[in-house]
Amino acid sequence: MSVSIPPPKCLKKPLTVPHRLMFGPGPSNVPARILQAGANPVIGHMHEETFEIMSDIKSGIQYMFQTRNIMTLAVSGTGHTAMECAIFNAVEAGESVLTAVNGIWGERAAEMITQPNLLRELPKLPNCPVVFFLAHGESSTGVLHPLDGIGELCHKYDCLFLVDSVASIGGVPLYMDEQGIDILYTGSQKVLNAPPGTAPISFSERACQKIFHRKTKPISFFLDLNWLANYWGCDGKPSRIYHHTGPVNAFYSLRESLAILAEESLENSWKRHEKVAEYFQAGLESMGLKLFVKERKARLPTVTTIVAPHGYNWKEITNYIMKTHNIEISGGLGPSIGLVLRVGLMGCNSSKTNVDKVLAALKDALKHCHKSKV
Ligand code: PMP
Repeated sequence: MSVSIPPPKCLKKPLTVPHRLMFGPGPSNVPARILQAGANPVIGHMHEETFEIMSDIKSGIQYMFQTRNIMTLAVSGTGHTAMECAIFNAVEAGESVLTAVNGIWGERAAEMITQPNLLRELPKLPNCPVVFFLAHGESSTGVLHPLDGIGELCHKYDCLFLVDSVASIGGVPLYMDEQGIDILYTGSQKVLNAPPGTAPISFSERACQKIFHRKTKPISFFLDLNWLANYWGCDGKPSRIYHHTGPVNAFYSLRESLAILAEESLENSWKRHEKVAEYFQAGLESMGLKLFVKERKARLPTVTTIVAPHGYNWKEITNYIMKTHNIEISGGLGPSIGLVLRVGLMGCNSSKTNVDKVLAALKDALKHCHKSKV
């Protein structure tokens, strides 16, 4: 046998990555301090020092989520991984789940629940759902959904309350324990400003009761909470068994991002996001643009949806802004495609200076992009 496929020429060129202002719905910009944390040396995923870093991450997540849950960890993967971790552990074949659809994330959750393996016993579905899924911050529509009272209602019917806070947590008040949330997850690349690839998640005692008394194994080995709980030192067992190779450098970055949030404090971060979002909304309205979410209280301060300006091709606008201003903003997603422009100002990106940059870029785009006369 011989090597018949030559080394690719493209790999001879040095890697180049542009600097960009990441004002779409994620990932957001990663500050130097977090990038540098991730550039620390690789050590073993089972080394004592790594376990200590993981323990710090756990405390940081407990603070960010406002929870005392022992079962708190970060999944190796993006927001989708945490979403599947929640659903695959909490739901068994034959059980029913209720999903609130206020954008694409409710739709995706419903799709994950209807995985063939989970649906095998569909005809026997009981009436009462075992899990209620809700996206707190729907990044596709820019909707912030209130959470108060829902946990209590779910518990009255012996149902777990599962909340997606990928686009909201850290930028909007959320109190996992006080609001009766049983499973909560997020991603590293939004308000936390860490690179994509780790996803904080937490399970209440009630959720653990259900998950650890399952009759069947979850359909994913990688996301099986029995294994993850041990790897993250959440199961009280004296030793940890190898499950998968944790992305240690991503853990360093995640730890640093949680440290930055703790330094600023949740309350200050919430206030900053709120003030910046109000400033942004006022600026958009004074330009004659319309906000997609009419009700002020229902607007997500981290991701703003703007009604796609009439007569323009939204793609031309986003392309122009990227090319001319080096700024990423995006169009709609799923049900909001073609209807909106989405601007995410999350974590360190949430500042009035950045709002001014986006407003200037939008003004320029509306002047230069083609506008149809009809
Ligand atoms: N839920 C919400 C609300 C999101 O905004 C996103 C990412 N846009 C996800 C889930 C999925 O996260 P990821 O892209 O990290 O898998």
